[in-house]
Amino acid sequence: MLVVCSLCTPTARADGRCGLLQAKSTASVVTPCVFAVAVAVADDGGTPAATDAWIAQQVAEANRIFAPFGVGFVVTERSVLPAAHAHLRTRADRDALAAFVRPGVVNWFVVAELLDVDEAGVVRRGVHWHVGSQAGAPHFVVVSRIAGESVLAHELGHFFGNRAHEGGPDNVMSYHRDGSPPRFDDTQGARIQRTARRHLRGKTLALANDTKP
Ligand SMILES: [Zn+2]
Repeated sequence: MLVVCSLCTPTARADGRCGLLQAKSTASVVTPCVFAVAVAVADDGGTPAATDAWIAQQVAEANRIFAPFGVGFVVTERSVLPAAHAHLRTRADRDALAAFVRPGVVNWFVVAELLDVDEAGVVRRGVHWHVGSQAGAPHFVVVSRIAGESVLAHELGHFFGNRAHEGGPDNVMSYHRDGSPPRFDDTQGARIQRTARRHLRGKTLALANDTKP
């Protein structure tokens, strides 16, 4: 018997109406809302900052962790981030990525180096970055090529409403890990769903099958 794993390859419904907007109860969401992701991979001296396999693995792990809450992701656009942006060391370096933000999608930048902007010399693996503090200002996720497999999921957790680093060692938003597969707890999952609904109703994010190739 062929078993199709909807968590491995999430697909949006043909009519584009995902379960989050249909279900009365969040617990009954079975059709994932698959958000379109535009990934820009930095050119680092003539080679991409990350391989296709690395990118696919980050997305697959994010889909695994978000799946219990009816949210998924698929890369719909891929571009090369110019080499001048491969190494992000300052706030200005991060802000400069705003020039590459595409509308209506989750923007994901993969870079060769990401340094903390408050503590000198501290290396970061990812960040959810807001350009300015005004409502509607661009925001996006950045993941360094040194990141472990759940870092995109962690940054998307911030993107979808979870600001704090909290939870136990099995929580994807915690800085501590115990080796078990990371997850969101139900409170975090509810934040994700509220944020996802707000983006869909406000048309600030599109589902994957709503975007044009
Ligand atoms: Zn974080």
